[in-house]
Amino acid sequence: MDRDGIVARVAALRAGNDARRLTFGMAERRAALERLAAAVKAEEATILAALREDFGKPAPETVLTEILPVLQEIGHARRHLRAWMAPRRVGGSLNTLGTSARIVPQARGTCLIIAPWNYPFLLAIGPLISALAAGNAAVIKPSEMTPATSALIARLVAGAFPPDLVTVIEGGREVAEVLLDQPFDHVFFTGSPAVGRIVMAAAAKHLASVTLELGGKSPCIVGPGADLDRAAAWIAFGKFANAGQTCIAPDHLFVHETVKDAFLGKLRARISRAYGAGASSPHLARIVNDGHAARLAGLVRDAVAKGARVVLDGGQDGRAMGPTLLEAVTPEMEIDREEIFGPVLPVMTYRDEAEVIARINARPKPLALYVFDRDRARVDRVVGATTSGSVGVNLTVVQFSHAGLPFGGVGNSGLGAAHGEHGFRAFSHERAVLANRFSALPAVFPPYTAGVKRL
Ligand code: NAD
Repeated sequence: MDRDGIVARVAALRAGNDARRLTFGMAERRAALERLAAAVKAEEATILAALREDFGKPAPETVLTEILPVLQEIGHARRHLRAWMAPRRVGGSLNTLGTSARIVPQARGTCLIIAPWNYPFLLAIGPLISALAAGNAAVIKPSEMTPATSALIARLVAGAFPPDLVTVIEGGREVAEVLLDQPFDHVFFTGSPAVGRIVMAAAAKHLASVTLELGGKSPCIVGPGADLDRAAAWIAFGKFANAGQTCIAPDHLFVHETVKDAFLGKLRARISRAYGAGASSPHLARIVNDGHAARLAGLVRDAVAKGARVVLDGGQDGRAMGPTLLEAVTPEMEIDREEIFGPVLPVMTYRDEAEVIARINARPKPLALYVFDRDRARVDRVVGATTSGSVGVNLTVVQFSHAGLPFGGVGNSGLGAAHGEHGFRAFSHERAVLANRFSALPAVFPPYTAGVKRL
């Protein structure tokens, strides 16, 4: 779509939003969410097919990580919408005696949702649920790297909503740039920290508010008191689901030296049980494109050339890459600096807890941090001494699916939060309303009396 087409679509959306200001209430929002749920259920087979076509995502994984979370988010929003939309009374103070104060959540207006390719359905539709619950109109710009899912989202949305309420504009960077030139009221971006900076700078031109859901290297610590079977099972699941292309996947491990050999044995056994066939396993998604497959091969090559040891070689056949474990990874290696975003896991050994904490804190703030240990005090120490968007204790990645928790980053890993009520608030303006009933304040209006002058 050319620039004029994009500008016209956004203008139509804005006009629709203006016309709906007084009519897009709770019932209409619930109906919109129900239409979305019905469309997702009706399209389940085509969603599975699109994700298989885009990067060979196994159907059970698509159901578990793309379709169910969307349906759960819709159900949660429908159930809680009344409470979220309700004005919240605020108590008075002496200087506002005789007034009543409320905070009223109000739709931000016309919103832009830019989605990444790694969970291309969930991360486009999830923010839309919050946007609609909060009463907004929205444009979705899906990722161009997953074209089958992008086309499916466009078709699904066009069937469920009028184009002045929700519209999908497909395309890559050029299209995103034109969209970011438009005066949106809120921009919800999910993607890399590098593009997040560009998005925030573009939003600043219109002083649009932003939610930035970014990425980074999420550390995972396996402490001396860890239940090693549990740690191996959760780490293999969190790291190799979606072939490691998950923003909150454990990016690198720090394993205490006293448990390292036993843990590695269990991790290898777990991987072999889950993905016995390595690269050709039917339970493993493919790498999204040839460029990323070459990037991952390059990261492993660079690490090995600089002294890393391959503990488990999953093999690689084009975009099919098996779980690969590396040891002796050092800061000189590219793999220790770049977000890996693939099925390669560096395993570092540590002796001293303070040293691991210092290494984590020397890096940009991560999106997630994982700690495995049965010793509560040790876990609390690590959590207290570090920062991250979220924390998983004795588990990985499922903090994403807890409806009551905010999902978001901090610093380099993002700004603001998504999911449930937190997503609703991201797409709402908290409007302060103070109403005068019998305010005593006129007593201090000029001309000032002797009593006021003494104040
Ligand atoms: P990306 O930043 O390359 O692209 C994301 C979106 O931005 C795409 O729609 C793309 O077309 C668009 N885009 C690309 N260049 C742009 C530009 N110059 N201006 C405006 N828009 C532009 O990210 P990606 O490769 O699709 O996704 C991977 C990254 O996303 C990883 O860093 C990952 O950790 C992160 N991620 C974060 C979350 C989260 O919830 N925090 C979820 C998934 C992925």
